[in-house]
Amino acid sequence: MTTVYIHAPAAEHDFPNHPENAERGPAVWSLLEEQGLFTDLLIKTPQPADAALLRAVHTSEMLHYMEEVCLRGGGRIDQDTYATEFSYNLARIAAGAVCQGVELIVKGTADNGYVFVRPPGHHAEIRRPGGFCLINNIAVGARYAQHILGFDRVAIIDFDVHHGNGTQDIFYDDPSVLFISSHQYTPYFYPGTGGLNETGVGDGSGSTMNLPLPAGVGDQGFKLLYDQLVGPKLEQFKPDLLLVSAGFDAHWVDPLAQLELSLTGYGELCRQIITWSQQLCDGKILFVQEGGYVLEALSHGVLNTVLALLGRDRLIDPLGPSSGSEPELERTMTAVRGLHLI
Ligand SMILES: [Zn+2]
Repeated sequence: MTTVYIHAPAAEHDFPNHPENAERGPAVWSLLEEQGLFTDLLIKTPQPADAALLRAVHTSEMLHYMEEVCLRGGGRIDQDTYATEFSYNLARIAAGAVCQGVELIVKGTADNGYVFVRPPGHHAEIRRPGGFCLINNIAVGARYAQHILGFDRVAIIDFDVHHGNGTQDIFYDDPSVLFISSHQYTPYFYPGTGGLNETGVGDGSGSTMNLPLPAGVGDQGFKLLYDQLVGPKLEQFKPDLLLVSAGFDAHWVDPLAQLELSLTGYGELCRQIITWSQQLCDGKILFVQEGGYVLEALSHGVLNTVLALLGRDRLIDPLGPSSGSEPELERTMTAVRGLHLI
């Protein structure tokens, strides 16, 4: 098994006391190194995505605005989202990293892969950056697969604790991209979108599946939801390529959210998703970094995913399980089954 690992840590995209800071990249890199994985992985250095590809996802106005902010030295783009003078180029490199990963897998140089990128991307909408995100990296990668590499059908699974509102916005009317997001959905929780009834519009109707979750859902709930809803939805869709927005902020230690996945639960979830990619699209799967702000949960989440991609049985969980009990999900499951004819 050849697994490509692309690291785009964006050291110069940093802001004091911000959860999405430049310590995240080295934390992941040093754990993979400590575990001796670099001899087993195909390591690649990313290049910036072409401006034309960025315009396949975002408006020229939005891209121009971000470029201008950075040319003027950076600053806050909104309450949550910052840029430095280097951030626009670094965001282009993050998007380019996803394209490179997709290309290596499609051309057969690698079987599968993991792309660690910053800044993250899944909250960046067609016309608006936000939620720590500047360019929607995974969306650029999906469009690259379709427009440049000739793929028809791309499925994106987003298990970050926050709804992937940007990715949903970009593909909401597009039947060729299936977007599935599981996320915390409680009052005042960012970004506030991702309700059950948001299933797509026009030709894209039914190609968005949201799994909005109450606080407290953990390993058992995720297994149930993914086995009974996500698997059948993927089978219905029959993707040519599977992309994953991998956020490790649904871990129980994460202070920004109240979902209760453990590293073991995350590891098993990733293994299941990889198995589906083998059954449905010759194992063509690329994980793309989104959130995850407790460095130990983030770095081990990446490590366990990389081990699973390499086909290893090993899983490392120094943080253990959550002690909470999980809420009932039957009503959510019944509603999703009805909406998506599963
Ligand atoms: Zn998140």
